[in-house]
Amino acid sequence: MSKQIYERPIINRINAGVPDKFGMRSRIKTMNNIDGVAINTITEEFGSPVFVVSERTIRDRYHEAYRAFSTRYPSVKFAWSYKTNYLDAVCRVYHSEGSWAEVVSGFEYEKALQNGVEGKNILFNGPDKQPHEIKRAIENGSYLHIDHFDELYLVIETARNLNKKALVAIRVNMDTGIYPMWDRFGFNYENGEAWSAICRIMLQENLEFVGLHTHIGTYIMSPGAYGVAAQKLAALAIKTKQKYNHSIKYIDMGGGFASKNTLKGAYLSGADTCPTFDQYAEAITSALITSDLDPANLPTLILETGRALIDDAGYLIGRVKANKRLSDGRKAIVVDFGINNLFTSFWYNHNVLPVQVHTQTTEATTIYGPLCMNIDIIRDVVQFPPLETDDLVVVERVGAYNMTQWLQFITYRPNIVMIDSEGHTHLIRKRETIETFNAQEVVPEKYK
Ligand SMILES: *Cc1c(COP(=O)(O)O)cnc(C)c1O
Repeated sequence: MSKQIYERPIINRINAGVPDKFGMRSRIKTMNNIDGVAINTITEEFGSPVFVVSERTIRDRYHEAYRAFSTRYPSVKFAWSYKTNYLDAVCRVYHSEGSWAEVVSGFEYEKALQNGVEGKNILFNGPDKQPHEIKRAIENGSYLHIDHFDELYLVIETARNLNKKALVAIRVNMDTGIYPMWDRFGFNYENGEAWSAICRIMLQENLEFVGLHTHIGTYIMSPGAYGVAAQKLAALAIKTKQKYNHSIKYIDMGGGFASKNTLKGAYLSGADTCPTFDQYAEAITSALITSDLDPANLPTLILETGRALIDDAGYLIGRVKANKRLSDGRKAIVVDFGINNLFTSFWYNHNVLPVQVHTQTTEATTIYGPLCMNIDIIRDVVQFPPLETDDLVVVERVGAYNMTQWLQFITYRPNIVMIDSEGHTHLIRKRETIETFNAQEVVPEKYK
């Protein structure tokens, strides 16, 4: 028998088999495959760390959301929020389901066109649209969601110079009972600014007022807030009809539905507390159909939900690189992905699952990323089984924002793989290399 490795003794609270208020502890959850594809075969082919996106989950969540709204309201359209995940392969799955594109920059607008979305199916949001981008959007017949008065006047001027009609909506911010209020975007409802913007638009020959838009925040846990927002937008549409005898084409409720991830500081898990698509749909459609909007001519209801659609479809696979004891005896592991890959670990207690375990005991463990930076922490503390160096782990629900907000810091961004509906793997974004960076850098002659 070989000699056991010595580990310094520490005092540790026993937790194995002791019931907490929810009952007996269950067995440690592991995950060894995604949609039937073994995780170790994914890392063999595509390395570690590696992001994985499930086409099946994208479609399932989309169908769930579409069903919730379309069974409650006659005309419903989803527009995929590009900034939530703008990998072309991902966007194309949403477009194949009939989603339009919702973009917040010229870069995203370009991406949507290259993904085959027609100009007339693009909603252009954001507070910083450039003059040439506004011109392009008008020429393509895209919907401009105006954010502020300076932009309104720029759109009026641009449309006039082009001698074309711009299709415009306004973004409205309002008190829905969610604080802090996101009043930095769009025109305020309560102080009359939104109505003033509508009246100015209605006076312009070169503008066609087509819709009302709001996006009240993100990870909003309260469906009721959407009910209030829908009521207020309906009120603006009704007032427009009364004063100008003009009906708008759509009411766009934005995104912001919560995903099943657990926020830091939350007591219960997000999977238990996150409202369902049905609850959001019930609140929004109730407000619209019980308003004084003409039932024979209801505006199309547009949803721009991002996070709640894609979060479940993304996984991050990585490896344990080291086991450690901190100076006070606490257990820590170092994994090969950090906050550079998993930006959302600033807000979420991400579920990290071992691919396999060696024992059913667990210990309070800190999970560190590999960066030379003190704040590179994936989990501050989590009950985790002892794993060995090079053992694989999977982080669930990383589909939203991580593949767009990730940081290029210290090392390369990893491969991203899509598992299609038939269970085949496809590389959809290549790991960066030194050449990726060399292509962007310029060393002036005098420094050579
Ligand atoms: C970010 C954003 C969305 C998507 O928000 P989620 O919280 O991911 O659902 C939708 N609309 C606008 C205008 C946005 O800025």
